[in-house]
Amino acid sequence: MALIVQKYGGTSVGTLDRIKQVAERIAAARKSGDHIVVVVSAMAGETNKLLGMAHQISDNPARREMDLLLSSGERISSALLTIALNAIGCPAVSMTGRQIGLQTDNTHTRARIVQIDAERCKSVLKDNHVVVVAGFQGVNQKGDVTTLGRGGSDTSAVALAVVLKAERCEIYTDVDGVYTADPNMVPDARKLNTVSYEEMLEMASLGAKVLQLRCVEFAKKYNMPLIVRSSYNNEPGTLICQEDAKMEQPVVSGIMYDKNQAKITVKGVPDQPGIAANLFNALAEASVSVDMIIQNISAEGHTDISFTVTTEHLADAMTVTKKVAEEIRAEKITSDADIAKISIVGAGMKSHSGIAATMFNTLSRENINIMMISTSEIKVSCVIDHKYTELAVRALHEAFDLKSDPALQGNNVASAPDKKMKAL
Ligand code: ADP
Ligand code: ASP
Ligand code: MG
Repeated sequence: MALIVQKYGGTSVGTLDRIKQVAERIAAARKSGDHIVVVVSAMAGETNKLLGMAHQISDNPARREMDLLLSSGERISSALLTIALNAIGCPAVSMTGRQIGLQTDNTHTRARIVQIDAERCKSVLKDNHVVVVAGFQGVNQKGDVTTLGRGGSDTSAVALAVVLKAERCEIYTDVDGVYTADPNMVPDARKLNTVSYEEMLEMASLGAKVLQLRCVEFAKKYNMPLIVRSSYNNEPGTLICQEDAKMEQPVVSGIMYDKNQAKITVKGVPDQPGIAANLFNALAEASVSVDMIIQNISAEGHTDISFTVTTEHLADAMTVTKKVAEEIRAEKITSDADIAKISIVGAGMKSHSGIAATMFNTLSRENINIMMISTSEIKVSCVIDHKYTELAVRALHEAFDLKSDPALQGNNVASAPDKKMKAL
């Protein structure tokens, strides 16, 4: 008898009918003999609705209060799903983050998990009940409710799977798996059968919102197999696991985009040692994560520094940057939230050259200006004007020949390496 953690996202529990259908799926899995722990998101749209309500009252609501407010969405869906399970004769118990013993640090609205004391959960499982956990939430050491950042139920699920030593963690969502690009933007995107943790980490950090980044970090660290699949059908989905020799290794596995980006430029910065350290230390102290950074060539003892942050961090980042800019006597600060980051990802890039050039040529053919570039062993990212996002993603998908091929549907692309290589 295996223990499986199943996570259902917002659309999967978006209506009462959907909740009933999900309950049937869970009951069937339980009947087949496995122990099931379920983690749920809030019903689709609920978290945004709650956020909107708070912002109608205040421009700057306290993060502590936002956490209590937002965590209520997951409590509602976990209770409703438990009621649905019990109604069809599948004994189940709902639990909040606190009841599941999920302890986090103190960073309200983007807390990190510190530990999970899953004793209560284990005893409910021993009584042969399904446990239905409200995802996305925990409590800090003071006992205040915290949340794990947008999409955080994925992370609750994987962390629980690790602590309970589950056989695997299944992420049920509204698409059939992880695709070569967002299937809602690129209609001929192809579903990937397997993806390595390493690639998935890049994909998640570069905007493939199908999995929250932290959840992939946990899965990789503890080698927890993840399966992303649809809650609407029985297709096998995408397996995310350790890379092995048999796995598909296309040069480029996918095209990601992230519109949730903003650029800050500090102009006329004195070109002296310690200036960048001052600025980026202050940003780190304010818990602002900085992504790309470029510094121009110095002219007459002054230089310009540009960097990107998520739009969520833009206001905090501007406050900190203004303060530091005054101290270091910089000339001017500007910000631009109308940007997007477009990335190509692929484990096979490690051993191929010319991939970045193909990306730049493709963007140039479409007359799309590149504002910033960053690379790693397995990705290349470019910042562009956000209005060209769809055009860029589709053009790159085409240029790297990633589209679904009816002849290959359902097969592992490893069977067609020549075709992929030819395009490069
Ligand atoms: P859930 O509510 O189930 O957590 P999300 O909306 O967070 O679902 O994530 C699923 C969505 O992720 C899909 O509807 C799809 O639009 C988007 N997505 C973006 N990039 C990808 C990708 N490469 N593969 C699959 N889905 C993707
Ligand atoms: N409900 C939260 C959100 O919308 C968490 C989640 O869905 O995973 O971000
Ligand atoms: Mg999600």
